[in-house]
Amino acid sequence: MHIDLTGKTALVSASTAGIGFAIATGLARAGARTIINGRSEASVVKSLDALREALPGADVRGIAADLSTAAGVAKLVEAMPEADILVNNAGIYGPEPFFDVTDETWERFFQTNVMSGVRLSRHYLRGMLARNWGRVVFISSESALNIPGDMIHYGMTKTAQLAIARGLAKLGAGTQVTVNSVLPGPTMSEGVKRMLEGAAEKEGREIDEVAVDFVREHRGSSILRRPASVEEVANLVVYVCSPQASATTGAALRVDGGVVDSIV
Ligand code: NAD
Repeated sequence: MHIDLTGKTALVSASTAGIGFAIATGLARAGARTIINGRSEASVVKSLDALREALPGADVRGIAADLSTAAGVAKLVEAMPEADILVNNAGIYGPEPFFDVTDETWERFFQTNVMSGVRLSRHYLRGMLARNWGRVVFISSESALNIPGDMIHYGMTKTAQLAIARGLAKLGAGTQVTVNSVLPGPTMSEGVKRMLEGAAEKEGREIDEVAVDFVREHRGSSILRRPASVEEVANLVVYVCSPQASATTGAALRVDGGVVDSIV
């Protein structure tokens, strides 16, 4: 299968690092004009340089905007009014005991992980429907289904994304606009590396070893028995964004290494 996104414009939120950067790279490699986003100008410039070095000649642009606020989303939309492909990847995470999680933290998680995708979809989906072609993908998580006891505030946002994606898919009924969610399992992104760095340093071990132990201890149902790479997650997302994925909509697609212990 050859995926060709020539002529399509793709926006990947929060894509200067991690899974988002791998998705942006995959979409740009498939020929899409690709817009990356991060909070600071410096991180956007650094990631654009890396992208251009990896894919000489690729049509890539970057927009700095903090998507945890309505003003940040408005800034992005103003700089980039149309998109054929929207990947709602922005998401923060981190364990914290339920009894210590403040209202402010609940609100911050909701605004960043849920409202960024709501606001971006409200803007870009309209144009996709008018042009009768589009792809919206929400990067949720296996934690949407297996709510972690130490990240209930995160799990709540990831389940909310599934509901929104399923509902938005119905707005595209009978059109060539699809909306789906993708559920990664533990994935070796910059954010996860940061989370595990402390333990690796303390124990004097390689981070990859610590990550395999993390999967074994905290995601015991994993069939893969290791974290995925960001490219393994991006491959599924690029497919979902492709013309070939035209009959897949309203779906929650897992790239979780089998962590969610269910057949369907
Ligand atoms: P990461 O922390 O490695 O990278 C996040 C990127 O988002 C960075 O470029 C950062 O600058 C940017 N960012 C953060 N807040 C932002 C904001 N307010 N506005 C704009 N940009 C912002 O993250 P990741 O691990 O690659 O996670 C990406 C997505 O995948 C998230 O939605 C996360 O919930 C989901 N996910 C990750 C894993 C995993 O194990 N890594 C598993 C399941 C789901």
